[in-house]
Amino acid sequence: MDILTARGLVMTYGSTRALDDVDVTVGAGESVAVMGPSGSGKTTLLHVLAGILRPSAGSVDLAGTDLLALSDAQRTRLRRDDFGFVFQSGQLLPELPAEENAALPLLLAGAPRAAATERAGGLLRRLGLAGTERRRPGELSGGQAQRVAIARALVGRPKVVFADEPTGALDQATGREVLDLLTSVAREHGAALVVVTHDAGVARWCDRTLAMRDGRVVSQFTAPVGGAR
Ligand code: ADP
Ligand code: ADP
Repeated sequence: MDILTARGLVMTYGSTRALDDVDVTVGAGESVAVMGPSGSGKTTLLHVLAGILRPSAGSVDLAGTDLLALSDAQRTRLRRDDFGFVFQSGQLLPELPAEENAALPLLLAGAPRAAATERAGGLLRRLGLAGTERRRPGELSGGQAQRVAIARALVGRPKVVFADEPTGALDQATGREVLDLLTSVAREHGAALVVVTHDAGVARWCDRTLAMRDGRVVSQFTAPVGGAR
């Protein structure tokens, strides 16, 4: 079953066609890597799929809901309830311990503190961060901070997690470890994943890879069944 379906996406900035007739489907629980050179439209595609940017043309459907037909308030609510986000870096609140940073979406939605931090703590431990729950972001390594950001993206049980170069600020070995955790934990939680990355090695952990060039999807390849998962 497809959870996210985009058809005929076009995004123009003046004479630049950042997206040029792009069709994308993402299956429920599927992980999709988006690759391509700088300027090929990856971030624009991610932002359009996530309802952050309105395309010049085309449609985006999340499990039967037409994202572009919603009011801004409805779309904001849908983003909060159904989507999780991981960005490159710098997204944690410096004054909050890891556990509260990870629990933040639940706390902001009014969940009881004990239940929210318990769920966040479980995710942090799954991500290899046992013992760092009370540390503030300044006391974490870059890889640890990104794992807290992953916990935060998943804590609200989203249908889709969007990640834009989530390991861009990390060295390659740490980055791969974090991407491996991101794909496997998203899979365990039944969340689909759309991840923009420059690391071709990530295809090993994703179900499918889209290659972009000049605003178009120029190839798609599927990971071999029973690959390196
Ligand atoms: P990528 O993520 O692959 O590097 P982007 O989606 O950021 O590519 O950009 C695709 C193209 O659209 C580039 O040529 C970029 O300069 C252009 N672009 C993106 N956002 C804007 C914007 N807000 N205004 C003008 N041009 C933009
Ligand atoms: P990326 O690593 O994806 O290439 P960029 O640093 O090019 O990221 O762009 C970051 C953001 O800045 C993009 O998502 C886009 O919204 C905006 N942007 C990119 N190119 C332009 C541009 N030419 N003019 C204005 N905004 C831009």
